[in-house]
Amino acid sequence: MALISSDSLERVKQAADIVEVVSAHTDLRRQGVRWVGLCPFHEERTPSFSVDPQEKLYHCFGCGVGGDTIKFVQEKEGLAFAEAVELLADRYGVELEREREDPQAEARRQQRRRLGELLDRTAAFYASYLWDSDEAAKARAYLGERGLAEETLRRFGVGYAPSAWDTVLVRGQRAGFDVDQLRAVGLAQRGRGGGEYDRFRARIMFPIRDRRGRTLGFGGRAMRSDQGAKYVNTAETDFFHKSDMLYGVDLAKSAIAKAGRAVVVEGYTDVLALHQAGVEEAVGVMGTAITTKQVAALSGMVEEVILALDADSAGQEAMLRTQQVAADRRMRLRVAPMPAGEDPAEMVAADGGADRFRELLDSAIELPAFQVGLVLDRTDMSSPAERDRALAEVAPILAAMGEGASRNDLLRLVAERLDLDPALVMGRITAAQPLSGGTPAPDPRGSAPQRPRGELTSRERRERALLAMCIALPEEGSRYLEKLEAGHLSQLGARAAAWLSENLEDPASNLPRDDAELAGLITELVIVATDVPSSSEAMELNYMLLEQGRLEAEIAAAGEAEDFTRRAELSLERAALVEQIARAERVESNR
Ligand SMILES: [Zn+2]
Repeated sequence: MALISSDSLERVKQAADIVEVVSAHTDLRRQGVRWVGLCPFHEERTPSFSVDPQEKLYHCFGCGVGGDTIKFVQEKEGLAFAEAVELLADRYGVELEREREDPQAEARRQQRRRLGELLDRTAAFYASYLWDSDEAAKARAYLGERGLAEETLRRFGVGYAPSAWDTVLVRGQRAGFDVDQLRAVGLAQRGRGGGEYDRFRARIMFPIRDRRGRTLGFGGRAMRSDQGAKYVNTAETDFFHKSDMLYGVDLAKSAIAKAGRAVVVEGYTDVLALHQAGVEEAVGVMGTAITTKQVAALSGMVEEVILALDADSAGQEAMLRTQQVAADRRMRLRVAPMPAGEDPAEMVAADGGADRFRELLDSAIELPAFQVGLVLDRTDMSSPAERDRALAEVAPILAAMGEGASRNDLLRLVAERLDLDPALVMGRITAAQPLSGGTPAPDPRGSAPQRPRGELTSRERRERALLAMCIALPEEGSRYLEKLEAGHLSQLGARAAAWLSENLEDPASNLPRDDAELAGLITELVIVATDVPSSSEAMELNYMLLEQGRLEAEIAAAGEAEDFTRRAELSLERAALVEQIARAERVESNR
């Protein structure tokens, strides 16, 4: 990975407005020096999410996530560190400098940049060819008949590939690209005779772009009946993996954030038609079912996804895993089954069709309920064997849902329809549970720790108070950090103390990147430090309370080891300490 210089990293951090960045994902209200709102990482009704614009940190007191602006972008956009920095640099107009890196990595980066250029240039060429060439007249007519306006087509960069064998090949080489590069991005392929030719010919071209609008591949629709496959896509390349991509996501992402949901359809023209009809939160899966990777990509952007797909595909077995990935990420998947023989593009092109489509979305039902419904509807209830088979089919669906009220509702429905004891159905669900162990590991870059936090122990509360004061009063803080030992602290607290003793001067600007739990705690401490009433006395008091805890553990250990002399010594120490604490507390309460 290209190393971004620490200088420009610093400039990005300074330039980025964390309140603005976070506000795209949740509404923030000013509260004193901070901004607060509902946590965009876990579901909640009362705001426990806090943004500190001075320190440029966020923290959720509910689920414990926290970090700086870059971390936030990484989590919400599902990006790697460097990508998040690039995105912020772009957005806030910071020129990134890169440190010298090993020549191989530099070469790879250059190559990637070149290939990106090649794809973008080619997309621009296809687009101009669609509008300017005689050859594309039929394609223009076809798109027009589908009700797609020129403005929409231009926005999506739709184009046309000439029918000649080598137009892109020749143009690409003339522009300084070599055949290997053209092959690497899937634009050229080798024929049986060994010669190279254009992969896409006489096709309407849909550029497939990533979230940032960079073209990574193409989908090409045949215009002649003798062309074999109706649709041809870019072959899998180093950076094009069709099953990871969402068509139209670059143009849909802000509408998705605004609507709080994404609408998933199958085809390119469906996406275009929906955007044109005002359903701009639509993206395409370029296949008949959504993949787990696509769900994971959406989970960083939105909590609810509506599948406006062919009814059969939503019932497929593959959807089970998808449901599980969604449940793991606290996402709702709903199904708005398309009427047989109709696709979204056709529907919205008809009079009043956009309204019909919106109604369909509004009445979408939860994916598991939909799947269970499909199974029950095709079960012959008069046959016990059939009912057994149905139970076997629905059990894994219910198991994938995870516990909750909606599963209980569905469980009751299944028991009733199959005329079975609910306890029996529950038993089958439990038996089907191991499936959940098979969930593919979530992408480590895209996942935030979402553990609900239990109540803190009194020791944890004290250690947090003390550590926050160490940040507030760093000079005295460093002395306490030296004094603190493992016996005083929880495991996490010990990690925080060790980290703080190295970074006490500016803990906010250099958060740990590889320990999310620790980063969460540090951001919490930095945020708390700005308003915890800190004083030498309060620090000493908290330290003594932690020391008391440490002594008590030692006394217990000495007792267990039957070392009574040691225990007596420690007890004396404790008595003196308790006395001191009582004095200090009197002083504190009189302040
Ligand atoms: Zn949270």
